[in-house]
This record gives sequence, C-alpha cells and structure tokens, in this order.
Amino acid sequence: MTITSFIPPHRTLMGPGPSDIYPQVLQALSRPTVGHLDPLFIGMMDELKQLLQYAFQTQNPFTIAVSAPGSAGMEACFVNLVEPGDKVLVCRNGVFGERMRENVERCGGIAVVVDNEWGAPVSPDLVEQALQDNPDINIVAFVHAETSTGALSDAKTLAEIARKHDCLTIVDAVTSLGGVPLLVDEWQLDAVYSGSQKCLSCTPGLSPLTFSQKAIDKIQQRKTKVQSWFLDQSLVLGYWSGEGKRSYHHTAPVNSLYALHEALVLLHNEGLENAWQRHRNAHEELKAGLEKLGIQFVVEEASRLPQLNAIYIPDGVDDAEVRNELLQRYNLEIGAGLGALAGKAWRIGLMGYGARSENVALCLKALETTLK
Ligand SMILES: *Cc1c(COP(=O)(O)O)cnc(C)c1O
Repeated sequence: MTITSFIPPHRTLMGPGPSDIYPQVLQALSRPTVGHLDPLFIGMMDELKQLLQYAFQTQNPFTIAVSAPGSAGMEACFVNLVEPGDKVLVCRNGVFGERMRENVERCGGIAVVVDNEWGAPVSPDLVEQALQDNPDINIVAFVHAETSTGALSDAKTLAEIARKHDCLTIVDAVTSLGGVPLLVDEWQLDAVYSGSQKCLSCTPGLSPLTFSQKAIDKIQQRKTKVQSWFLDQSLVLGYWSGEGKRSYHHTAPVNSLYALHEALVLLHNEGLENAWQRHRNAHEELKAGLEKLGIQFVVEEASRLPQLNAIYIPDGVDDAEVRNELLQRYNLEIGAGLGALAGKAWRIGLMGYGARSENVALCLKALETTLK
C-alpha cells in the first residue's frame, strides 16, 4: 500500500459553504489537545458561550455549540420541541424548509406546509392565514437565510405573527449568523440554530444553538422522552451549564471548539455591524461586476442575501464545464444549483473571511474569462 498524507490544494471557496477559513482559525485548531473536563478547557467553554451570545445577540443562558454540523442543530430543535401530535407550521421556500418538514414528521408531529416560490422570501401573509386556519398549531419553523436560493426572509415579522398566535419559533440561521442582522432577543426567537462553516468561517462540524426560556419551558413540560439520546438537550445542559456541575455527556470535539472560539473572537473584535457591512460591500462589488457581464440574479433585490448570490447560468453555457474550469484553472469553487434550481443557477458565496474584494475580483475575472 502506498497511501501517504493527504495534502489538499489551496482552493478559494465561494460556494454555499464551507467558506474559506480564517488562517488564525486553522492555527487554533492545531493547538495541543487538553482533556474536555480540564479546568482550562471549561474556562474556554464559558467564554465560547459568551461569544455565541454576542453573535446571536441574546442573553439566553442556553446558548451552546452542538458537537455536529448544522443539520444536527436543526434536528436538535425539532426533536426537543416537537412532541408526537404537535402541529407545526413549516415555511418552505427551498431545500432546507423541506428538511424541516421531514424532521417534524420523523418526530411524530403534523406538518402544515406554507409554500413559497424558490427564490422568494417566506410570505408573512401566508403564515398569518395558515395560523388563522389552524388554531391548534403551536410551533412555526422557517429558514432565515435560504442557502439553496439566496433569499432572506423577514424573521422579525414572522416571529411577531407566530407570537400573536401563541406559537414558538424554530429558526434556521445557518447562513445568516454573522452575515446579516440576526437579533435573537429583540425579535424574540425561541429556538435558533446555525453552522460553523458559513459566515463564521470556522471548520465544518459544529452547530451554534440557542433556546429561549419559552423553548426550555416547553421541553421541560414534555410528556415523552426525546427520542434521540445524543440530541436530548436536557442531558447536554449539565455539560455546558458549569458551576462545578460539569459532567461527562460525550467527548467534546476539543480542537474544533478552539477553532470556533477563535472565529468568534475575530467576529467580536471586528464587531457584528462591521461584519454585516463587509458582507454587504462585497455583495455590491460582485453585483456591479456581474451586471457588466449581463448576468441576472435569481432573487429580487429587496430580499437578496449578500452572502449567497444565486445567479442564472447564461443561455447556452454548460454548467458543469464552467464550474470544472473554475476549479481546475483558478482553484475556485462556486456552488451548483440545488433542487428546483439545479442546472439553472450558480451560487456564489461571500461568507465570512470570503467576503473580501480580492475574492470578488478573482471570481469576476475567472467567470469573465471562462465564459468567453
Ligand atoms: C448548510 C445549511 C444547513 C446544514 O448545515 P450542515 O452543516 O451542512 O449540516 C442547514 N440549513 C441551511 C440554511 C444551510 O445553509
């Protein structure tokens, strides 16, 4: 056998995630591993909680990172909050809304689906109507930033409507956290999950998660046990809650948590508002360049995500051939279309460390040359 070390090339990642990782984050990852119950590590975990609270703009004591990717954060919300028989309104305007529906059903819940066109934000009017038609719904689930289409939904308004109808909210903020305003406390969102590898520019495999007191109350009033042992947050709480109570639940991904800590220190040092503005600036630069190339956006201007630009593939252009050329000649990855947009759109990510003028310039030059 002649298998040797795997040495990947230096790609520029401008797809839907993972995004380019900050060099400081990669360095943090390679620091010495300590025991996951080591007092120094526990101190780091407490800081990590505070940094996550800042990123989410929340005071929720239950603010942690699930030791698994964004999909596990999604699942953690559904398995803890949805009990068999619960009726859940699921807003579907892309791939991830459909996954939410799937989660509800696997928890024994009843999903009522509100559909919006791919590329459109979730319509508050349709949500209001569905809640009027189904007064027994007790949870509203929606995706804040739909990575499959590049559409941003109005989380504040959707949460207001949900509250008016006495519903809790489950919010997918995997792509929004760090890239666009997300104000968990001000908007009174209840269960919000994210991912480490999108606008935080950390390594993949961790899912920031926060629960409001109302969400915790619903979990504590459950009549049935959460069917997943690993994702049962009442068990995880003992590990993250500190005050000398920390006990073993599972082995924390020690080095990955160093990396997340570092990524969040960088975000805190930059300041959330500045990070949001940087994403917006990069998006404006990209947009100006794409318009010169005659390329059209999938999403209407008002609900476009700066960090995920879905654009129509120009007529007569071979989707896979162009993406392959970008990868081979420029070491540049852009995303293919998903679901209803497969073969019709590309997705250009400007996430976290990738939301920079250099990346925009590289992408525009590579696209222009390749399309010729
Ligand atoms: C990427 C993504 C997920 C899933 O995250 P993974 O880390 O890939 O499991 C969920 N929702 C949205 C909106 C995403 O962009």
